[in-house]
Amino acid sequence: MRATTLLNRLLDLPGLDVSGVSLDGRRMLVEVRLRARRLACPLCSFTTRARYDTRPVPSSWQHLDFGTATVVVFAYLRRVDCPEHGVLVEAVPFARYRSGFTRDFEDLTAYLATKTDKTTIARFLRIDWDTVGRICERVVATEVDQDRLEGLVHLGVDEISWRKHHKYLTVVTDHTRGKVVWGKAGKDTATLDAFFDELGPDRAAAIEAVSMDMGPAYAKSVRADDHAPQAVICIDPFHAVKLVAEALDVERRKACNELRHGEDPTAAKKFKGARWALLKNPGNLTDGQAATLRKLKRRGGDVWRAYTLKEAFRAIFAGDLTTDQVTELIDRWISRASRSRLPVFVKTAKTIRKHRDGILAAIRLGINNARAEGLNSVVRLIIRRARGFHSADAALALVMLACGPITLRLPHERPNIHPG
Ligand SMILES: [Zn+2]
Repeated sequence: MRATTLLNRLLDLPGLDVSGVSLDGRRMLVEVRLRARRLACPLCSFTTRARYDTRPVPSSWQHLDFGTATVVVFAYLRRVDCPEHGVLVEAVPFARYRSGFTRDFEDLTAYLATKTDKTTIARFLRIDWDTVGRICERVVATEVDQDRLEGLVHLGVDEISWRKHHKYLTVVTDHTRGKVVWGKAGKDTATLDAFFDELGPDRAAAIEAVSMDMGPAYAKSVRADDHAPQAVICIDPFHAVKLVAEALDVERRKACNELRHGEDPTAAKKFKGARWALLKNPGNLTDGQAATLRKLKRRGGDVWRAYTLKEAFRAIFAGDLTTDQVTELIDRWISRASRSRLPVFVKTAKTIRKHRDGILAAIRLGINNARAEGLNSVVRLIIRRARGFHSADAALALVMLACGPITLRLPHERPNIHPG
């Protein structure tokens, strides 16, 4: 077998013939020629035999490494005049539009981005993190399930902070399939309006329930005509539990400040360490935290009362109760918290009462399932990695790669282009 033929098979890229190869340090430059005579538009299915002009466009793509060498595929491309898209450099079957990387390299990058951390990926692939972000965007654009907005019935809408200084993403989850199906930068009514614009009135009319947090922005968008005014608005119990935990934290800080201005400043310091003992689920406490909690119990007072209120509330949503039982317990909790003489709990009880029906709707429709919460925690894990990106679209692409309707294949998992 000739060396170029062998290399052609090893690179395993479709639609090209290797015409030459050279090595420059740890860079292997592979010159290739496209096999197709017809020119294809990179944005649609238009093909033609007529090239727009005779000027060759030198183009290169980074491919999968060969040994320790970075492989760069190089070709002269032609220009095509598409009736719809105008004059563009022709499409190649082995790389996505306007990418300096082969499809295989991008697929590998996207796969790694969902599996491991920023430093590892950048070092292993020898590309910077924002390049990873742009690759994620291209992979999502071409590989995400184009039918993802079909047949939506139970949705979840969440805001996620993806960067400091109040940078948020809104993500829409299909509760039935357990996938993130849509996202956009921002977290206001207009952000979710854009989702309904894309969905269209017919598909929006089929939506039966939308779960969300207790803020007014998303509910306003859902309620609008042409959106989904028929849908039941559900409040994710997750958000309600979080609100109550925050109320407890207010009580804890208050007690901590009182101690600091009291006779024993070291007591205040110890109290600060009690934060996690109070906020974590009792089952997840370390021995030290459990001991702190026992001390707080002996001490009693407002913080302990606040703690028992928080734990009582959390237990309502453990998932082992019927809707009737949950209803009864929520109502009992609201009246207990209202009478607690803890101002922040009185206020929280008011908020919970206001959203009582939404919380109960979520329980009734089973939206508080482990799956939705599982997905939520994956999204939050992924978003921590996406914080290194400079663009919201890249952060969103990473969320879609990890949690969206998309099948990522590694280069060796696709069929061999040169079998035998
Ligand atoms: Zn076109």
